[in-house]
Amino acid sequence: VVLEMKNDDEIEKIISMFLKLWGEAAKNVDEELQSTLNRHLGSLNVNFPLVFISTFNDDQYGSPAFSLGFNFPIPVGAIYINKSWKDLPERWKEFIILHELGHIYHNHSPFNVLVSILYKVVPKELRELYNIIKVGVSFYSILEGKEIPKFIEEQITAAKELEADKFALQLLGDKRPILEFFWWLKRNGISISHLSEFGEFRLPALTVDERVEHIGPLGSNF
Ligand SMILES: [Zn+2]
Repeated sequence: VVLEMKNDDEIEKIISMFLKLWGEAAKNVDEELQSTLNRHLGSLNVNFPLVFISTFNDDQYGSPAFSLGFNFPIPVGAIYINKSWKDLPERWKEFIILHELGHIYHNHSPFNVLVSILYKVVPKELRELYNIIKVGVSFYSILEGKEIPKFIEEQITAAKELEADKFALQLLGDKRPILEFFWWLKRNGISISHLSEFGEFRLPALTVDERVEHIGPLGSNF
């Protein structure tokens, strides 16, 4: 019962955060980015857009672009892009928007909520043991100069990101701007694309190289 109560509180918090960010995006829509988004929503036969896109200033959030929302069964949500990314080439911005739309389209936010609830259901002792193993294996890998193996939290994060990349490629129909954007990230010293979103130890979940390797073999025409 205590656990259920906690989860109810948690879900209430998540819903109020969603409504706040969704409402703010709807109020402060970036017209230029929204028209790109609406064009692609139209290609998905969504002609009454309920996904709103807005911008934010540096350091306000931990990530240069993020989204939240769901697809039950039409996409509803908000996409936020850092203002500094507004100057990027059009096609790169289009990819970034589509990647975020991919998260909404594939219900990654509700999935995240489920995973974080499941994580809390795991008995504390088992979680502690798991964390010890995770830290131990990570340290051992670093000492041995080996790559840190991906644990389940990192696997889940990576799978969602790659799914969003694939969705974006399908709608964009061209992998060149995506690869150009990834190479630009690397030139700017960004080699780790994402850290895991779950658990107590957030390890690297996905590198920019892995995203390049994933997009590379995918055809542009599906
Ligand atoms: Zn993403």
